[in-house]
Amino acid sequence: MAFDRASVRDADVEGRTVLVRADLNVPLENGTVGDDTRIRAALPTIQELVSRDARVVVCSHLGRPGGSPVEEFSLRPVADHLSQLLGTKVGLAPEVVGEMARSMAADLHPGEVMLLENTRFEPGETKNDPELSRELAAIADLFVNDAFGTAHRAHASTAGVAAHIPAYAGLLLEREVGNLSAVADDPDRPLVVVLGGAKVSDKIGVIDRFIELADQIVIGGAMCFPFFRAQGLATGDSLVEEDGVPLAAEALEKARSSGCELCLPVDLALGREFDPGTEKRDLDGVEVPDGWMGLDIGPRTAADYAARVDAAGTVLWNGPMGAFELEQFAAGTRTVAEAVAAASGFTVVGGGDSVAALARFGLTGRVDWVSTGGGASLELLEGRPLPGVEALEAA
Ligand code: ADP
Ligand code: MG
Repeated sequence: MAFDRASVRDADVEGRTVLVRADLNVPLENGTVGDDTRIRAALPTIQELVSRDARVVVCSHLGRPGGSPVEEFSLRPVADHLSQLLGTKVGLAPEVVGEMARSMAADLHPGEVMLLENTRFEPGETKNDPELSRELAAIADLFVNDAFGTAHRAHASTAGVAAHIPAYAGLLLEREVGNLSAVADDPDRPLVVVLGGAKVSDKIGVIDRFIELADQIVIGGAMCFPFFRAQGLATGDSLVEEDGVPLAAEALEKARSSGCELCLPVDLALGREFDPGTEKRDLDGVEVPDGWMGLDIGPRTAADYAARVDAAGTVLWNGPMGAFELEQFAAGTRTVAEAVAAASGFTVVGGGDSVAALARFGLTGRVDWVSTGGGASLELLEGRPLPGVEALEAA
């Protein structure tokens, strides 16, 4: 699937009011912005619009305020941070839609930027309420969706609004869809998919799809334990997502009759509990005794996975290989992350924690594409249509 949506690059924006849906859902720490990766990722589209003399009205959700204004979920810190990054004042409307929001937007000069309050202060946002969509659309002449991280949700500010005014893809959304589609549609081979982390049932759809598409799927993190359980192996006190066990059994079955190699760990690092100071033990094998939990892949597994990444034409990595937040159990994730960074193939990393791991090892700049959208990137890779993309004008 080539990207087949109209781009903000081709929109006539000069002097016009443009509503930009960005994904500014960043972590807050004591009332200020923590990791600002998502705000930075939204800058190219905003700057493009500013440089072309649009009047720019940005909107986003933040957290889960539950459909009414909640002070702790105000976008105030985000507005201040965005002002700093842009080097220009970004006013914050005290509401999402309504008189004040409309009049602030109407007062914008070409090249000026403002932010609406948290879209999830409106109960209609997550219900994709047509009335809210119309009110959002009434603020602007055209709509640009750059919120890739929320594109898998059909909400008023991501999808509904696009029915009422001309709607274009933002630069980030365009690049996300382009790079992820390149992995799924026409990868250089071998395509090696590295899956880990904790949320097996969230990721099983991707395993299913990649059994058809990939040459190798290598599995680490807590993701391996439903597979071991499905194979009748002991998992001790390891984190086993029960719902994942039948899904893992099906994946193993499906892989057997496909051309895709499904690789599981051959050794593990064990701990007593999920704690930085826990007693640690290496296990040359994978049958975890009671009283222990598997918290990392072992060195033989890590070396094998790294070699596969090294030889790959395309690598997709989603999910850490272990509890990398605990120094004692970071080695497997580090080895794989370094291999991904050093790989000569096209490398794509997605998933909030995997991206955080890359950053922690100082490797962020060494992969070809770091996706800002966890759930959205998985749904796109699974081949599911994203409502926030489907709603845009055809190219
Ligand atoms: P991502 O955000 O990259 O998609 P997930 O959210 O699925 O990844 O999983 C990340 C979490 O998985 C991390 O907090 C990590 O500590 C945890 N994790 C990885 N391996 C294990 C394991 N063996 N046991 C328990 N937790 C694990
Ligand atoms: Mg995560």
